[in-house]
Amino acid sequence: MGLLSGKTGAVIGASSGIGEAAAKLFAEDGAKVSVVARRTDKLNELVKTIRDRGGEAVAIPADVTVAADHARIVEETAAAFGGFDFAFNNAGTIGNFAPILEQSEADWDHTIDTNLKAVWMAVQTQARHMARNGGGAIVNTSSWLAVGALPGSAVYSASKAGMDGFLRAAALELATHGIRINNINPGGIDTKMTRDAFQNHADVLETFAAAHPIGRMGTPRETAQLAAFLLSDRASNITGQAMLVDGGYAIAGQRG
Ligand code: NAP
Repeated sequence: MGLLSGKTGAVIGASSGIGEAAAKLFAEDGAKVSVVARRTDKLNELVKTIRDRGGEAVAIPADVTVAADHARIVEETAAAFGGFDFAFNNAGTIGNFAPILEQSEADWDHTIDTNLKAVWMAVQTQARHMARNGGGAIVNTSSWLAVGALPGSAVYSASKAGMDGFLRAAALELATHGIRINNINPGGIDTKMTRDAFQNHADVLETFAAAHPIGRMGTPRETAQLAAFLLSDRASNITGQAMLVDGGYAIAGQRG
């Protein structure tokens, strides 16, 4: 029996990086997954990979900033698999990772809409369905930048800190409906987003990677493993937690 055997749900932000690794891992662990993002070609490739490996998956192209898409994700997942009992809300943007003096109102709106407002819309829609159908589990991808900072991270940090604040209130309310909700807060993970954030400054990226106490950035798969655990019944007593998965990066103190 896999960790997620018998579970049905969605991985949102599944077309690359952490979400793509999560969709593959959840399917290996026995879940039936809908994979959601804007890039349909990437989703179709992922569905094929999962099916070739004996798993069950469907693609649902959607944009998390569009309110109506959240209802469609839940409805289409439930129609495909007969239920919707977990969600991994992982879609996110680094936004314009620029000095605060150079950022625009549009930069703020894009990052907050994608990372924070979309999670509120997703959780509300998913939880309404789960509350009517015996409960469920939700995991959202926050960041170590909710509790830390880099030059240029002001709006991104605000969006992720907002997610952690939202989480705690949501967990209190949703517990009464049999729904657990947690955040994972990755440190530096080797994905396109990280490479974009460092704008291909290989030397700076190398220093950043080496500053993780484990000596490297995390992989998408080892990040997804925490999400799989939190979505599984093994985590039945865990809700409202924002959990670092960062190789010790956010531990404060002198290094070197
Ligand atoms: P990534 O490879 O760039 O993946 C981002 C995912 O989000 C893609 O699947 C993208 O799909 C999706 N997405 C973005 N905007 C969307 C929208 N409007 N509608 C639907 N899907 C959307 O980056 P990643 O590193 O795996 O990031 C995944 C999550 O981890 C993000 O929430 C990020 O903030 C968080 N995180 C990453 C790191 C890191 O070091 N990499 C650290 C901490 C937290 P489409 O473009 O196809 O829509």
